[in-house]
Amino acid sequence: MPEPLRHKILLDEDEMPTRWYNVLADLPTPPPPPLHPGTGQPVGPEDLAAIFPMDLIAQEVTTERYVDIPQEVQDVYRLWRPSPLFRAHRLEKALGTPARIYYKYEGVSPAGSHKPNTAVPQAYYNAKAGIRKLTTETGAGQWGTSLAFACAQFDLECEVWQVRASYDAKPYRRIMMETFGGTVHPSPSDLTQAGRTMLASDPASPGSLGLAISEAVEVAAQDPTANYALGSVLNHVLLHQTVIGEEALLQLAKVGESVDLIVGCTGGGSNFGGLTFPFLREKLQAGGAGPVIRAVEPASCPSLTQGTYAYDFGDVAGLTPLLKMHTLGHDFIPDPIHAGGLRYHGMSPLVSHLYEEGLIEAVAKTQKDCFAAGVLFARTEGIVPAPEPTHAVAAAVDEAIRCIETGEEKVILTALCGHGHLDLPAYDAYLRGDLVDHTWDDTELQQSVAAALTRLPAIPG
Ligand SMILES: *Cc1c(COP(=O)(O)O)cnc(C)c1O
Repeated sequence: MPEPLRHKILLDEDEMPTRWYNVLADLPTPPPPPLHPGTGQPVGPEDLAAIFPMDLIAQEVTTERYVDIPQEVQDVYRLWRPSPLFRAHRLEKALGTPARIYYKYEGVSPAGSHKPNTAVPQAYYNAKAGIRKLTTETGAGQWGTSLAFACAQFDLECEVWQVRASYDAKPYRRIMMETFGGTVHPSPSDLTQAGRTMLASDPASPGSLGLAISEAVEVAAQDPTANYALGSVLNHVLLHQTVIGEEALLQLAKVGESVDLIVGCTGGGSNFGGLTFPFLREKLQAGGAGPVIRAVEPASCPSLTQGTYAYDFGDVAGLTPLLKMHTLGHDFIPDPIHAGGLRYHGMSPLVSHLYEEGLIEAVAKTQKDCFAAGVLFARTEGIVPAPEPTHAVAAAVDEAIRCIETGEEKVILTALCGHGHLDLPAYDAYLRGDLVDHTWDDTELQQSVAAALTRLPAIPG
């Protein structure tokens, strides 16, 4: 009899990491700071205090290598953490690859994705600061669901602006948010100035993530008992997600594997940063020896591979600080691809900086290629991936196929950052042959960026 195959590498609850890792402590050069749109100067804590609690503002700028995870947060994390690491034996066999593929599965969380890893500490620190309500935006509904769950844990109200197109197309996510106690508005809404302005110019506007952010920020900024919570992009969000990579390091050590390639999908960069930063720490400590780290983005919203590295707003109305990032322009409206979480015009300043420094690579993939890989994954491993991580799965499959040609036994690690149980219409469209691919040419994208940048305030120096 052959040895039974080991599929899952599990950690006990008491092996869960008790601190988050801050990659800022180890970077060769610091990323450029966020700027105040009025003064063009770096934003200070007082500029952010209208919408964020001090503990999170401190985490946004800290250069301490580690931040302790509060006991109250660990207690909620343990509802689903540590999350399993799987060896994809059956996918490997179907491909006939000599590569070994591992995936860290975050779909076991209450929301079905990695997002509760940051929603829970954000709700905790806001509740601790005496805040009564959190506002936010959501696209596909993953972030809104995660924040509604987290708010329920700490007795906070949760008010969500959901991009109109998803609000209409994805009623199950709205129902899940409401089940967790959240209130959901379609965006654009007539509850905010930003929403009313958009409705006046286009009453049938499908909305966008950038506009929904404007609405949620506007409401939080005007209510002293309310704050705003962002599900990706910012340093403190990526910090909270590093619990993924810290666990994966422990799990791979248990089976004596060292990784050659890490691939992750990037919308705003949080699941990617969360998985890869602890590995980057080890790589920097080893003088650069370690895995290749590769971000995978949709060809229809290619901020890293085709965007410009520049200061831009995080939202449409220009309420956020200016962030130095790879951007397609703050009013870029990507095609309505099914991977809603990857439809963001910008990229986390940390991930953008790492890309500029040559510490990570990036590739773009079309949604048809990604769903093909997602379906193969479902048929072999038995998990239907969310549309977003099908990008990571597709890139892992690409590399595994290259290994067939070269004979290399590479170890590939990927983040399966969510399941697709509430995204089945997307699979339906793929299986019926109804998916359309759109890729932008460089000229169109450069025009979008140039137009957005002319609307920015002057930046001194
Ligand atoms: C939100 C989301 C993403 C995109 O956000 P990142 O910050 O880039 O991780 C990707 N996958 C899933 C399942 C999501 O919910």
